[in-house]
Amino acid sequence: MSRAFANPNVSFSAPGTAVAVGGIVLAMGMTYASRGVRTDALGRFACAAFVALAFHSNLPGTGNPAFWVLPIGVAINVAMAPVFSGYFNYLVSALVVWLIISRGAVSMLMSSPDRNWILLFALAALALGLLLNLLFTQERKKTFLVQRELARFAYKDALTGIANRRSFMLEINQYQDRPSSEEFWLLLIDIDDFKQINDTAGHDTGDEVLVAVAQAIERSASPHPCGRLGGEEFGVIFSGNQQSANAFAKDICASVATERVSGHTVTVSIGVAGIAELIGVQETFRLADRALYEAKRLGKNRCVLVDPEA
Ligand code: GH3
Ligand code: MG
Ligand code: MG
Repeated sequence: MSRAFANPNVSFSAPGTAVAVGGIVLAMGMTYASRGVRTDALGRFACAAFVALAFHSNLPGTGNPAFWVLPIGVAINVAMAPVFSGYFNYLVSALVVWLIISRGAVSMLMSSPDRNWILLFALAALALGLLLNLLFTQERKKTFLVQRELARFAYKDALTGIANRRSFMLEINQYQDRPSSEEFWLLLIDIDDFKQINDTAGHDTGDEVLVAVAQAIERSASPHPCGRLGGEEFGVIFSGNQQSANAFAKDICASVATERVSGHTVTVSIGVAGIAELIGVQETFRLADRALYEAKRLGKNRCVLVDPEA
């Protein structure tokens, strides 16, 4: 477009134009596709430099090329300030932009009677750009931290602080698809007679019990993944053979039973089922739930394992 406004008697260098426009497109593509901080910064830097080169190649098309150095330099310097993360990257790019834009016009500008004004405007643009850059970098940092915190909360149970249902389901789906010679087991854990604790000691004590049991489960399950599935139900994914899965579930029952929360002894019942690719996550939950029901029926504070051969 700038060529349409240029002096018709000027012939521009076609290779110069191709380098400038091609450079802008390539640098934009590089920034867009970059997955690392360095290539991203390099792409942005190249983009600013090629934009400056493109404007510089237009200058001969104006009646007074030296006059345009200042407004174009100021415009690019201020406009690109938010684009760079980090003041160092911005300062280096801004200096390179000034060098490119003013090439061939420095002596004319410095011998002009407005020399001091020109320097003042160039410095003011740099200072304004720096300020904008710092503000935008600060905002980006804040947004990043808030997003990270939100992502953390999205996978954490608000009451107990352990993994929530969403997190646990993602985890178990991964185990489901994992080709492995190892066996994986789902432990469905339910607090016994929890409603009674709520009814007799109050909801707040019920919450304290939930937190204590969740922590006890996490402690004894570690490093195996666990989570709160909802209410007073928890899940653990155990990797090992059938015998060790059974022993592991028994250990969890025993370690919860040793906890005393606000004078209450709490027990859990556990249903255990194998996680296998063939039966699917839903069926695994159904089988574990059936085993859990059996554990309750047999008198609670125990674990029942679904016999995979049955
Ligand atoms: P069972 O031994 O058969 O498992 O009996 P239960 O009393 O543990 O089971 P039931 O399903 O009858 O009661 C579960 C109770 O858990 C009912 C519900 O009010 C309570 N509950 C669910 N979520 C929370 C919570 O976040 N805090 C508290 N304090 N109670 C909860
Ligand atoms: Mg329940
Ligand atoms: Mg219960």
